[in-house]
Amino acid sequence: MNKLLHFILINLLLIGIGCHRTIPGSDSNHDSIYQVSILDALMAGVYDGETSIEELKTHGDFGLGTFNALDGEMIVLGGEVYQIAADGVAQRIDDHIQTPFAVVTFFTADTIISIKESIDRHQLGNTIDRLLAGRNIPAAIKITGDFSVIRTRSVPRQSRPYPPLLDVLNNQPEFILENVTGTIAGFRLPVYMKNINAPNYHFHFITDDKSAGGHLLDFTARNLTIEIDTKHHIAIQLPYDDDFRDVNLENDAGTYR
Ligand code: ZN
Repeated sequence: MNKLLHFILINLLLIGIGCHRTIPGSDSNHDSIYQVSILDALMAGVYDGETSIEELKTHGDFGLGTFNALDGEMIVLGGEVYQIAADGVAQRIDDHIQTPFAVVTFFTADTIISIKESIDRHQLGNTIDRLLAGRNIPAAIKITGDFSVIRTRSVPRQSRPYPPLLDVLNNQPEFILENVTGTIAGFRLPVYMKNINAPNYHFHFITDDKSAGGHLLDFTARNLTIEIDTKHHIAIQLPYDDDFRDVNLENDAGTYR
């Protein structure tokens, strides 16, 4: 264990646990993750889906995803759906827009911790790993705080014939935001789900003023509040369309990042 991490963990014990609380019981109807399509289909270039934002909202008020034609990053917060387009600018999205891949849930924190000290994404991941018992249970994770630096990306709208996702990500626009407050929304999913959804941590970010954000790459932040909602049920809406029916998902699509 490196010294910095040890310092953080000690401080977590001294400071964070004072803010730690567990909320017993949960509404079983809300203890579910709902996802549209599967990651391997998105990796293979299935970028159009039939699920509207209006319908997606009936399955969750929190989460992430993308839009048809891979038109930017989606973040769902407080029941509102936002797009961060390829220019890094965020906007609220209308209900009639559709998604080829999204992951949502009704978020109710089981556990809330606070970390005052400045930490980066890697350190945060290690900290959450130590707090969550085992790696086999999915968790939705919401993080708010003061971000001195945060690096994000988005994806540009594609046109047919669609290239594989990793080809798009090789040319992804990246953004660096400094001294912003905002919210990270995402999931830590078990590695055994890797063909279905992104394994380990997958986060999207939006600023408090809802002006910018994207798929989270890295950050340094302080005064973090970390809310964790563990989930024991996952529902997957598989597409009905020809793109999904015909795409070959039997080859290794590569590793999502
Ligand atoms: Zn993402």
